[in-house]
Parts: sequence; structure tokens; C-alpha cells
Amino acid sequence: MQMTFQPILERPAGRPILIAGPCSAETEAQVLLTAHELSKLGYVDLYRAGIWKPRTRPGEFEGIGTIGLSWLRRVKEETGLKVTTEVANTQHVFESLKYGVDVLWLGARTTVNPFSVQEVADALKGVDIPVIVKNPVNPDLKLWIGAIERIYNAGIRRIAALHRGFSHHGESSYRNVPRWQIPIELRRLFPDLQIICDNSHICGRRDTLFAVAQRGMDLNFDGLMTEVHPRPDEAWSDAAQQITPEQYGHLVSKLKFRELSTDNPEFIQHIEHLRHEIDEIDEELLNLLGRRMKLSEGIGKYKKRNNIAILQAGRWAEILERGVVAGKKRGLSEEFITSILRSIHDESINHQERIMLEGGE
Ligand code: PEP
Ligand code: MN
Repeated sequence: MQMTFQPILERPAGRPILIAGPCSAETEAQVLLTAHELSKLGYVDLYRAGIWKPRTRPGEFEGIGTIGLSWLRRVKEETGLKVTTEVANTQHVFESLKYGVDVLWLGARTTVNPFSVQEVADALKGVDIPVIVKNPVNPDLKLWIGAIERIYNAGIRRIAALHRGFSHHGESSYRNVPRWQIPIELRRLFPDLQIICDNSHICGRRDTLFAVAQRGMDLNFDGLMTEVHPRPDEAWSDAAQQITPEQYGHLVSKLKFRELSTDNPEFIQHIEHLRHEIDEIDEELLNLLGRRMKLSEGIGKYKKRNNIAILQAGRWAEILERGVVAGKKRGLSEEFITSILRSIHDESINHQERIMLEGGE
């Protein structure tokens, strides 16, 4: 579907939209103290605080509820900051609008459920308010876009996507693995859709917040959302990833905000030259891959004639092992080599399978 978006907030010159505030509104004092500290920094554009919290397990703090909205209203009155909170159903939307919340966001556990997204979209019909749509918990770009479409169809044009990473199984240093290629693809499909990086929920810990935020900036994301709490260790939710307003100020001051382009002719000429070389290498890679597949088809024919299985586990293990060692010598990570060799192998199997299924001997 063709969609044309407007910014949720104008992107300030030379920097992204900065969104900060606690994971959850806990007490009036905590909400106000955090807001005043952040407002002193002078560059926070939007103050976040969760009022209704979707928790993975029951029995955890599930949000302070409507009373917290009156605290957010005080934040607006006392600091002039705009405020945003998460909504997951009709009642959340109506209450938030009643208390003057400026921007709404859909959480990852809502985006994943089309019934809930539609309920929120229906509640928003005829309302002109910016909406941030977090990615769904699972790495499903279509589901993310589907949620954006539902909000769009309700007549909302000021929409942003928020990248908070994806659930995963097994060990990872991330709380939610970023899979950067998913927001990159979203950007390719919808160049005018603002994308915000939620470094807090990707990291789940403090020591990696800067690196992930910087990556978001290097990918030219339009905004950054970070959880900030006056006493992070005592936070009622997501304690491990929250930082103090002071630490937040430090983080922002270290970030490098990149320009999208420049008109410096020397730069343009040099980069064009390098890009030309890259294009040539890509062409070579494609030629080689094409040749490799042709060879693989030949092997497939031979296997078929001799009634030999396509998958030769020993041979595959050997290719992978050799590839990882050779790749490392060339400065390529094991993860990259493994994923590239896996998809080459996969494609080889597909080619050979086609040969096996063809008529004839
Ligand atoms: C949050 O922003 O605190 C939150 C619950 O995030 P997510 O929906 O990304 O898990
Ligand atoms: Mn949180």
C-alpha cells in the first residue's frame, strides 16, 4: 500500500528527535523529578513514561494507571515538555487524549496483535495525534508494516516507527536482538517514515546503550528513545537498562550525529570513485555466484544419475569450517561468513533439488 507520512515532530537541525523518561511512571515525585532534570538539559523533545505496562509475567508492576496521566499533565505544565505514553486499547486512548498526552505509542506486544492494533486504530478515527509504532516482538517486517497501515487507515499521518529489537531464543548480549536489516528495509520501503531507535530495550543493560544509540545515529535514524530514571537500580520496571538524567546527558553529549549528505565536491568525487569499485566487486561476486550455482547443478545431475542424496553433511561441515578460518584471515566475522555460506549452500541445494525433480533419468 502506498503511504505518505508526516513527521511526528520536526527533526531539529543537526540532531535527531530525543525522547527520554522512565520506563514506568511510579510516583508523582519520580515523574516530576525526572522531567525537571531532563528539561534542564535543554534538548529533550518528548518525555516518555509508561502508564499501563504490558509485563511478560503476571505479578510484576503493571503500571500505575490513570492517576499517572495527571502527573504527565503536570510535567507539561511545569516544564513545557511534550509527553508520550503507551496505549494498547480503547480505554487507554480515550484516557490519554483526555489528559492531553501529545504523542501515543504502540508497544511491541500490541503491534504483534492485529486485533489490538485495530482496536487502537478504531479509537483514533477522526483524531489528529502523532503515533509511534514499535516493532512487533518477533522479527516480522510485514506485521510491523501491517500495524502502521491500520493506524494510517484510521486517518493518522504523523506516524513514526520505533525499532526496539526482537525476541530471540538462546544466548545473546542483547535483550532484544537488533537485526538492523529489518529497519533498514523499512526505510527502503518508506523513505519518508521517521524511524526511532530505542536503545534501552535493545540493550537491556547500561554498558551497551551508547554503542547501540550510535549505531542508530550512523544509520541516520530520526530519533532516539532512552529510559531515564532518577534512581535506576530502584526502578519498578526495567531497572537494569535505565540510566540517570546525568548519565543520559553524558550519553547524548558523546553521540556523533551524522549528516545525510554534503555538497563538498571533493567528498562527492571520492565517494563516487569508491562506490564504482564496490559496484564492480558486487558484479564480480554475482558472476562468481552464478558460476558456482552452474557447477552445483552439474554436481546435482551427477548425483541424480548415481542416485546419491543432495545433502552431504561431511562436505558441508568442511566447507563451513574452512570458510570461517579463511574469512577470519580476511577480517570477516564468523557470524557473517556462516550466514553467507549458509545461504549459498541453501541456494545450491535448491538448484540441485530442481534438477532432482526434473523429468528424465
Ligand atoms: C517500554 O517502552 O517500556 C516497553 C514496554 O517497551 P516494548 O513495548 O518495546 O517492550
Ligand atoms: Mn521499559
